[in-house]
Amino acid sequence: MSLPSRASYRDIPLYSPSKARCRVDLSDNTNLFGMPPAAERVLREVAAPLVTRYPVGYSPDLREAVAHYTGVDTSWVTTGCGSDDVIDSTLRAFLEPGDLIAFPAPTFVMMSYFAKVNGLRYTPVNLRPDFDIDVEGLLATQAKLIYVCSPNNPTGTVASRAALEQLIERAPGIVLLDEAYAEFARESHLDLARRPNVLVSRTMSKAFGLASMRVGYAVGAPSLVAEVEKARGPYKVTALSERMAVAALREDVPWMKARVAESLAVRERLVAGLQGMGLTCLPTEANFVMVKLQGALEVAERMRARDVNVRAFAGLPAGIGDALRIGCGPWDVIQTALDALREERR
Ligand code: PMP
Repeated sequence: MSLPSRASYRDIPLYSPSKARCRVDLSDNTNLFGMPPAAERVLREVAAPLVTRYPVGYSPDLREAVAHYTGVDTSWVTTGCGSDDVIDSTLRAFLEPGDLIAFPAPTFVMMSYFAKVNGLRYTPVNLRPDFDIDVEGLLATQAKLIYVCSPNNPTGTVASRAALEQLIERAPGIVLLDEAYAEFARESHLDLARRPNVLVSRTMSKAFGLASMRVGYAVGAPSLVAEVEKARGPYKVTALSERMAVAALREDVPWMKARVAESLAVRERLVAGLQGMGLTCLPTEANFVMVKLQGALEVAERMRARDVNVRAFAGLPAGIGDALRIGCGPWDVIQTALDALREERR
């Protein structure tokens, strides 16, 4: 018997970056400098009742901690099971199946996936040759929601303030600004969340080192946040994750800033190492570097055989072509990756 299923789901592949288990894994841009100490304390001290009972609906303590960290009122904050979930809930909250979303290309690969699982149409609009967003191109799509990621995954490049302001001013609908890597960037645009049509999403998975706990959030006008909260449902963040994220936001910001500084110092050395091999790196403000490399897929495959996992892309638009994305970790780890790359390019 074949059970009914959604026709639009037939061709949706599962998200599957190459997750070969390698000793050195620089493929997912997480914080490889350890976990925040206050969050670790919570993990060690957690009591059974926290696990056996439901969390409090809609994560009020987390909303409050995020509000404090970002300098807004609690009513301006929504949270979720990773920013993946916040983005997905945002699409569900504001769009009907068949609606159109637009985003720059290349960008976060999950966007086309989220579009498909929500029955949405999507239009990628290539980044400009200087890696800024193409405001006119994005607006010309007339999309009901425009997603922009800055610093952008996988390029590490940023959208200019002027372009973001133009886009927000003239967009016919919501602008979802993904700042998953904001803590690594020179400038944050969180203040744009004050505009009536903007949501800014962030995550605890990158700078704060809590990727496995799955905590993300967005900041925006209370009327927008209220809609996302409806799409989200009450119990998206576990009580343990909420406690750990709250502890990190309240007590571990200095720890986070120190790890970010370390990461940026390593990034400069990584870029110098890659340039020393005669390679071209894109200007990055994230905790990873995109480096142009012909035949990147094959090189990455051979690097995996040397126990080093980096993310490879083929034929990217905006004049990028084939490229590797390499995350920053402690220097000895980066050195191993550079050595493997040097060997495999021979
Ligand atoms: N946005 C961007 C740009 C990302 O790179 C990621 C993680 N790869 C996410 C969102 C999702 O992160 P999380 O669900 O762990 O918060």
